[in-house]
Amino acid sequence: MLNFDLHCHSTTSDGTLTPTEIVTRAAERGVTMLALTDHDDTDGLDEARAVALQHGMRFINGVEISVSWRKHTLHIVGLNIDPNHPALVVGLQSVRAGRGLRAQKMSDELAKIGISGVMQGAYKFTTNPNMIGRTHFARYLVEAGHCKDVKSVFKRYLASGKPGYVPHEWAQLGDAIAWIKASGGIAVVAHPGRYMIGKNSMGKKTMHEMLSEFVALGGGAVEVVTGSHTPPQYAEFARYAAEFNLLCSCGSDFHGPGESYRDLGRLPDLPLGSRPVWEAWDNVPAQTPPELKAAE
Ligand code: AMP
Ligand code: MN
Ligand code: MN
Ligand code: MN
Repeated sequence: MLNFDLHCHSTTSDGTLTPTEIVTRAAERGVTMLALTDHDDTDGLDEARAVALQHGMRFINGVEISVSWRKHTLHIVGLNIDPNHPALVVGLQSVRAGRGLRAQKMSDELAKIGISGVMQGAYKFTTNPNMIGRTHFARYLVEAGHCKDVKSVFKRYLASGKPGYVPHEWAQLGDAIAWIKASGGIAVVAHPGRYMIGKNSMGKKTMHEMLSEFVALGGGAVEVVTGSHTPPQYAEFARYAAEFNLLCSCGSDFHGPGESYRDLGRLPDLPLGSRPVWEAWDNVPAQTPPELKAAE
């Protein structure tokens, strides 16, 4: 089994562990290749890489960019990026810029239904205030006793259509892919199964249209195995990947103990026959899973 985890979060965005703690936890769980993919920010990468080196772990620079496509919010993970590339630096800066005002609007909306002081409360839960987001609001609302856990807060207050939800214009899909590619990385559609559930979700036809556009714009891979997917979805998105000639990625999307579907280093292998995203990396030696080797 390959213990690779190419999607997780630290306190640089909305994770609860520092980059050092994330890498240490991954090492303890036997991860041999890790990508840190904080939302819209790459500040944690240097610290994470230094700790990964101490553990002899291969470390991949990553980011997860928030994108608006039609009426949907998509997350596009960039893997093997150069965080210092000017196009990426300026692009991510522009995505982060709207978060403060959005937080103020979310707080105003919640005040209208009688929940006040949320803005200040949410900022207490940030380490990097530039990256204030819904998860910080959710943690505060749990602390303040409005819900029992973060997931319930999203259901009741923060998901699309709920009273604290404020529509927001994120990066354009083509721009996000272009920044990632300009910096030497590969663009990956994160957790596609999540776009097919809940209010305003995509049907199969729209998923096809999105993936066609993603490919046309230079996208390279899709997350097949990820914390929020079920085993049937691993197979489903492996089929999409084959259909669109995309590589396959895997990552827990871990945000912190007790808050995520999957812990670091606890993912099953990609479905048999998948072409893994690391196949495209010449600075990380490609590896053939043992079961595929046996089939050769
Ligand atoms: P934002 O970028 O501020 O809109 O926040 C998005 C983040 O909220 C995601 O990356 C998840 O960490 C979290 N999130 C979104 N939906 C849910 C949900 N239903 N339950 C728990 N966390 C969620
Ligand atoms: Mn998140
Ligand atoms: Mn995401
Ligand atoms: Mn994520």
